Amino acid sequence: PKTAYVRTKPHLNIGTMGHVDHGKTTLTAAITKVLADRGTGTFVPFDRIDRAPEEAARGITITLTHVEYETDTRHYAHVDMPGHADYVKNMVTGAAQLDGAILVVSALDGIMPQTAEHVLLARQVGVDHIVVALNKADAGDEELADLVELEVRDLLTRHGYPGDTTPVVRVSGLKALEGDPRWTASVEALLDAVDTYVPVPERYLDAPFLLPVENVLTITGRGTVVTGAVERGTVRVGDRIEVLGAGVETVVTGLETFGKPMAEAQAGDNVALLLRGVPRDAVRRGHVVAAPGSVTPHRRFTARVYVLPAREGGRTTPVSTGYRPQFYIRTADVVGRVDLGEKAVARPGDTVTMTVELGREVPLEPGLGFAVREGGRTVGAGTVIAVE
Ligand code: GDP
Ligand code: MG
Repeated sequence: PKTAYVRTKPHLNIGTMGHVDHGKTTLTAAITKVLADRGTGTFVPFDRIDRAPEEAARGITITLTHVEYETDTRHYAHVDMPGHADYVKNMVTGAAQLDGAILVVSALDGIMPQTAEHVLLARQVGVDHIVVALNKADAGDEELADLVELEVRDLLTRHGYPGDTTPVVRVSGLKALEGDPRWTASVEALLDAVDTYVPVPERYLDAPFLLPVENVLTITGRGTVVTGAVERGTVRVGDRIEVLGAGVETVVTGLETFGKPMAEAQAGDNVALLLRGVPRDAVRRGHVVAAPGSVTPHRRFTARVYVLPAREGGRTTPVSTGYRPQFYIRTADVVGRVDLGEKAVARPGDTVTMTVELGREVPLEPGLGFAVREGGRTVGAGTVIAVE
């Protein structure tokens, strides 16, 4: 029998972000190695984290790799994403639900375009705490690392983070993975910085249960399982839930986190829910599991949207009424038509109020963040003001 999950420490969701090849996956593996050597985790080798995206049935692609570990004071789910597009999708939509992030910057290369875009995304989705891992510190010289550190602090400050006081830790994921004592200590210092700098977020435990569906799986002989991070509330085996998007109401018959059964999942937990009698094809990424009657789907809403300028990866030309980009709302990806009302056009760099008519209904509420995407890149970031 499987060992049940016992909640002894606060749980936080963190993740590595940063430019391709700066060492995110190597560092993730190194963290698990350092903690496994300390006896509070299981080593997850590089190629188990960085495997090609798994294709589940019906083309749902798993684009998040979670590893689990504990420090002395916290239990972490740590997500490492294979490619830049996965960051944009999973972070911006809130699928990654990061309570804090480790920004990995190669001390040899400095800030690169994806470094800057990930900081921007983090700001937009409300990741308030970033710890910097100045990686590959084994390979370059100190003066270069000093320059890169200044550059990173400045980048953070420009995006509204406290760049001057953000922890910046010089590490070598590669050498720590090889067991080098000096660099093992550097990864421990990084974890200490995460433990102390990233606070345990306020969890909305009393709110009705809500989980945006990230992935759907079938367990032979048991039924359909949906996975994702609990956005708010709590859920127990036996609870009634509805799946918005699928139009079904049913009962949760099983609950697990990282393969361990649990009695109750709460806001912030990464979980798998086994649902009674739901056909596999009925549920998809983008659907929302919620306490029955607690949320309402909508097609029309008003939002404030920041149209990204070209220097932040956005458009070079204005958008006007009739524009039809993709809206990434929680884990859903839906086309929508933009109405700018009297203003009629919005230039890159503008923040505007717009009305959006989505191609299908999704659960919406004031305050919810979303991304606007076009041709595979983020062109806007918005917040819902009102729903119709
Ligand atoms: P990712 O794309 O950010 O996940 O980067 P990877 O973890 O795949 O690493 C990219 C390359 O950088 C690989 O060849 C790694 O071996 C190398 N690398 C990663 N961390 C370090 C480090 O701390 N020092 C050195 N010298 N090389 C590293
Ligand atoms: Mg990687």
